[in-house]
Amino acid sequence: MSRQLFERACAAIPGGVNSPVRAFTSVGGTPRFMVSATGPWLTDADGNRYVDLISSWGPMILGHAHPAVVDAVRTAAGDGLSFGAPTPGEIELAEEIIGRVGPVEQVRLVNSGTEATMSAIRLARGITGRRVIVKFAGCYHGHVDALLAQAGSGVATLGLPTSPGVTGAQAADTVVLPYNDLEAVRAVFAERGSEIACVITEAAAGNMGAIPPRPGFNAGLLEVCHAHGALLVVDEVMTGFRVSPAGWFGLDGVAGDLYTFGKVMSGGLPAAAFGGSAALMSHLAPAGPVYQAGTLSGNPVAVAAGLATLRNATAEVYAALDANAARLGAVIGDALRAEGVPHHVQFAGNLLSVFFTDDEVHDYAAAQAAATWRFPAFFHALLERGVYAPPSAFEAWFVSAALDEDSWSAIEAAMPAAARAAATATAPAEAGQ
Ligand SMILES: *Cc1c(COP(=O)(O)O)cnc(C)c1O
Repeated sequence: MSRQLFERACAAIPGGVNSPVRAFTSVGGTPRFMVSATGPWLTDADGNRYVDLISSWGPMILGHAHPAVVDAVRTAAGDGLSFGAPTPGEIELAEEIIGRVGPVEQVRLVNSGTEATMSAIRLARGITGRRVIVKFAGCYHGHVDALLAQAGSGVATLGLPTSPGVTGAQAADTVVLPYNDLEAVRAVFAERGSEIACVITEAAAGNMGAIPPRPGFNAGLLEVCHAHGALLVVDEVMTGFRVSPAGWFGLDGVAGDLYTFGKVMSGGLPAAAFGGSAALMSHLAPAGPVYQAGTLSGNPVAVAAGLATLRNATAEVYAALDANAARLGAVIGDALRAEGVPHHVQFAGNLLSVFFTDDEVHDYAAAQAAATWRFPAFFHALLERGVYAPPSAFEAWFVSAALDEDSWSAIEAAMPAAARAAATATAPAEAGQ
């Protein structure tokens, strides 16, 4: 079925998918078409079940079709799908976010993480009256024109430097630096500090594999930005409300100026947000002059899903996410070690990924230098055995709190064969890339 569906999809949809990360471009084969999901399990169109280690790329921390979330969505839908007018639920979701992330006093709800980062950058430019933005190689902030340069996620998976369609002018206003390299940031600011509107960084990098900031990196960014009148935009679309109740901020306590959120706060429907201090956010229309809008922003059904997800993300859920990530990392590491495969299972909070190298990975160059050619065999061996890992060596693995003993049995049964497949994979003839 998936094969026939994919053929049909390829005729109607470019590459057969509505987001490139879903395609199996870098691992080969046919993407599975999913028809339902519950708890930690996905079911495809052929009736195969998979333990889900992607969690819709982050949002489904409670597992799929969580009863409280589904109920909230049903109730909201029954009350009307969209009003084009403010609703009480939007205030509740905004307050829930503000209550969790100290530096955020106000948020504006949007429909995707891309919109959140695009809007945060416009706001930073509008407030500072400056053009240049600084980003890090391998960080992904959605498909915003100015942020696609050396981006992570699908851009990394497909090996693209940036994208056709992004104009030279947009690219010229973006400075790309190596992640975790504070000296490079200081050097650019020393030269162009008065032109720089903001630095945007993933709170912890998760789109080139899981790469945490080195101790002091985020704090150093903040210091350099403020010394030069620039803003620090902390992108917590992936980490937010996953790695702790307050996201990465809850782990490192570094207070950025502007924040972006998405994924978990959406509960799996299209919703995202950006926020900051009331003083900064008051520059947004209609309070201020920086324009930003959305017909479906704060959609009542999406808001209900997000609120129900956050309200059910209890201390036990966060403990389970951490424990499940640690257990998954151990299972992967044990299997690869048994087969003698050079690897490093790396964590950023409860995000994790496996790099096929002995060394710790601190930046995109090191992630690219790992033996990513081992990944397709590893991935397919898991998939064949009912374990759905991200189809790219450059993506983080996302556990849910719903992983149960059945799913652990499936993971633990599949991993030795996957490690063997990784061990026997052959390097491309021309290894240098
Ligand atoms: C997923 C992601 C985005 C983009 O969010 P979309 O909802 O896919 O547009 C932005 N930043 C980070 C860090 C992300 O992981």
